Amino acid sequence: MTITATAPAIDPGIARQIIDREATTGWDAWLAHVAGTGGCASPIRLRGDLHTADAATGEILSARSTSSMPDGVLYKACGTRRAAICPTCAKTYQHDAFHLIRAGITGGKSVPETVAGHPAAFATFTAPAFGPVHTRSLTASGQVRPCRARRDAETCPHGVRLSCTARHGEDASELGRPLCLDCYDHEAQVVWNAFAGELWRRTRITADRALARRAKAAGIDPATVRLRYVKVAEFQRRGAIHFHALIRLDGRIPGDDSIIPPPPGLDADTIAAVLADAGSSTVFDTPEHPTTGRSWTIRWGSQLDVRTIALGGGEMTEGHAAGYLAKYATKATEDTGHLSGRLTETTVAAYADPEGDHIARLIHACWSLGTVAGDWARLRRWAHMLGFGGHFMTKARAWSTTLGALREARAAWARCQHAVDSPEPDTTVLVNYLRYDGTGWHTEADALMASSAAARAREQRQLAREALDELNTMD
Ligand SMILES: [Zn+2]
Ligand SMILES: [Zn+2]
Ligand SMILES: [Zn+2]
Repeated sequence: MTITATAPAIDPGIARQIIDREATTGWDAWLAHVAGTGGCASPIRLRGDLHTADAATGEILSARSTSSMPDGVLYKACGTRRAAICPTCAKTYQHDAFHLIRAGITGGKSVPETVAGHPAAFATFTAPAFGPVHTRSLTASGQVRPCRARRDAETCPHGVRLSCTARHGEDASELGRPLCLDCYDHEAQVVWNAFAGELWRRTRITADRALARRAKAAGIDPATVRLRYVKVAEFQRRGAIHFHALIRLDGRIPGDDSIIPPPPGLDADTIAAVLADAGSSTVFDTPEHPTTGRSWTIRWGSQLDVRTIALGGGEMTEGHAAGYLAKYATKATEDTGHLSGRLTETTVAAYADPEGDHIARLIHACWSLGTVAGDWARLRRWAHMLGFGGHFMTKARAWSTTLGALREARAAWARCQHAVDSPEPDTTVLVNYLRYDGTGWHTEADALMASSAAARAREQRQLAREALDELNTMD
């Protein structure tokens, strides 16, 4: 392999590493070895033995140690969904998420094509207000509205006039920040985040009951229909969680999980109405907090948005909905400007402050309410997520295929591309004894070369796909 040095000149340290690698393992062998990581910024290194065993007898047919491989380890992509940690893996995750979400509305990827005919809706469930914050919204003609223009605005007990006539820019740092930090109910917001998952669960139960009533009224046996959903959680700038969900109406045969069309008689408008009703009527009070004596009422905010989905056209298509959900699946608290990992007794002081900025006060609220054992302790465990301890993407098992299945399909493809041994017959199993060796590439040169090789491979795949598309359209 030749390395062509072009201006601007390469960093001398990296040049040294490139030459060293060529002299030890050689680049060709090394790049082939790491190709499976697909350009991961921070791969996991595994060390140990890989055995091929006879499935029937358990007899070891062949054994290979990672010590015979370049660097003595296997490299495995980190697989994170968070773009801030590894952009490449997050992109893969987003891509996979998009396809599995979309397959649940259009069919494909082992989902029957008939799902395209099922009524479906897209819903956004937000948190209620915990105090006025700076906002940005657009008029119908695309003009930015004044943030919070109030001619007769009141002045809060802390002397802050609760009005803001600014037209904030898209990335303005004020967005999502309270007009008065002292008036804002930070405790209520983190408690809401902590109970958002429970609110979602109860909303689904309410929706199921409403659906049963509507079905009965339409002369349909309620036991023959069910709602299936996929949901993504996202942080708003103010640090409150909100959910986007796709909901599909399926038919049901008791004891059978396969995806079948619902009986006729219920349409997408019915689904949208059932969800809107459930969203506005579901409410409950938290248990009393042992030390503060407070209890909070948990309900959705008034900005409940439910739309029907039209295939291939209309206001919201299946592509919009899936793209929207997939995009948010790769974000955590990035939009709130807070990025720390799990907090501990020793690290929390750097982030929590009852007199600090908005995020510091939210983290403080989590930490102080989370001192008591039991359910409230979750607030401490999830203080770095501002109280939200749920999953960022959840779906009914039978929505479509799984991320795991997509990953397995991709890994199988990669194995074929880089197969060193002949394919294993079905009667053998791979038994691996691998242990964690570390995370990340050994040198900057390794990181650079692995990522550019992966980029080239992606480019070639894209070209191949385009060439195939061209061939197909010629038929
Ligand atoms: Zn990665
Ligand atoms: Zn403002
Ligand atoms: Zn105030």
